[in-house]
Amino acid sequence: IPVRGVAGQRIAVLGLGRSGRAAVIALQAGGAEVVAWDDGPEAENRAAELGVALRDLTKPGAYEGVAMLITSPGIPHLYPAPHPAIARAWDEGCPVDNDIGLFFRSLAGGEWDEFDQPPRVVAVTGSNGKSTTSALIHHILDHAGRPCQLAGNIGRGVLDIEPPHDGEVIVLELSSYQTDLARALTPDVAVFTNLTPDHLDRHGGPGGYFAAKRRLFAEGGPDRAVVGVDEPEGRYMANQLATGPADDRVIRVSTGKLTGEGWFVFARKGFLAEWRKGRQVASIDLRAIPGLPGQHNHQNACAAYAACRTLGLAPRLIEQALHSFAGLPHRSQLIAEIGGVRYVNDSKATNVDSAAKALAAFDRIRWICGGLEKDGGLGALLPATGSVVKAYVIGREAADFAMQLKGVEVEVCTEMGTAVARAAEEAQPGETVLLAPAAASFDQYDSFEKRGEDFAAQVAKLEA
Ligand code: ADP
Repeated sequence: IPVRGVAGQRIAVLGLGRSGRAAVIALQAGGAEVVAWDDGPEAENRAAELGVALRDLTKPGAYEGVAMLITSPGIPHLYPAPHPAIARAWDEGCPVDNDIGLFFRSLAGGEWDEFDQPPRVVAVTGSNGKSTTSALIHHILDHAGRPCQLAGNIGRGVLDIEPPHDGEVIVLELSSYQTDLARALTPDVAVFTNLTPDHLDRHGGPGGYFAAKRRLFAEGGPDRAVVGVDEPEGRYMANQLATGPADDRVIRVSTGKLTGEGWFVFARKGFLAEWRKGRQVASIDLRAIPGLPGQHNHQNACAAYAACRTLGLAPRLIEQALHSFAGLPHRSQLIAEIGGVRYVNDSKATNVDSAAKALAAFDRIRWICGGLEKDGGLGALLPATGSVVKAYVIGREAADFAMQLKGVEVEVCTEMGTAVARAAEEAQPGETVLLAPAAASFDQYDSFEKRGEDFAAQVAKLEA
């Protein structure tokens, strides 16, 4: 989509990866003159392909005549230290924004009238469950026949979407890396899933990280906010937003019962319940939904349900749609069932909290874990290991990782192939072999997707 309001301006783009390239194209389509900078080896080729001039944005005077700098999500702007090109922009008084900011500015600046309304934007943020919740909202809307597009961290880049048209809903998954920098953030519906201490270094500790998430709810606020209130931060945010106990603008979501006059969607004992003004409006049996196993997915289902309710969808329609949700790859995904043993791929469980959630979703687990450890250690994981029969540890530092799993029977396997083979040998019918690493994949793989694919490939060998 072309960026509005930039015609004739000179705009600098930092980083020519996926999001940077999309920004260049969208800015050019909006009539801007783009200069770019990327310190990687591909910079010259990429700039030539896009027809942009390279300019070293770290040099003094680099921002002369430049109206704005657009940066990319992977480039640090504050912690651990600002990229020199960003520091230079600050020094020279050039505003810094990103693709998300451009996207919202373009919507706001559009020439809409009563026959051609701007699209409605649902933005999903939080520590865990963003992709699942966004994909679920998109799936439900699609099922209901509402025109919609999925973008952001999942699906397309925000500037890569089809030009939105009247009545369309755009579902955006936004990470804190994106929300903390965007200069405009004006979704119609904002969804906050939950908060756990991940990505803390980038935001300078828990306060900064929370602030980055919370920005989505500031600036006049969205029309509606769906707020997960299982942590104090969520309760705080819901409280800040609501004008009173019965304020309909805020829907509180929880994995425990909520009571009061407000609008609530919560999951309890496997049932989703919607309450409004002290009365139950709807109830859905979540245990019967194959694509959403575990309490954490029930939380996601509640958040997605609530978001769709704010868009006017009926409870029964949402329930039908939930049944046909297949789940996302690498997130509690059932890969195979061999000899009564289930093989589940949750390679996306890259931190302690998401792994704990995955462990809680099954009983009698042969647990494949390990990889590049995140800060904070594994201590918080131990209470969740009650259902683990045995752990099979992978990763370059497998022995270290295994040492931390106190009270759990462990075997150091290092390689995925060994871990799957050993778990399969020892598993009894009714047990689950679960890949939920509680660690990043980069010591052995390019990405968590590659790690999950390797797991699936090793399981396929068992079947052969
Ligand atoms: P995100 O996009 O926020 O990273 P995903 O939907 O991709 O979230 O899920 C990431 C991982 O977190 C999955 O492996 C899953 O096990 C776990 N997870 C999913 N939803 C939740 C939730 N609501 N709370 C905690 N963990 C979750």
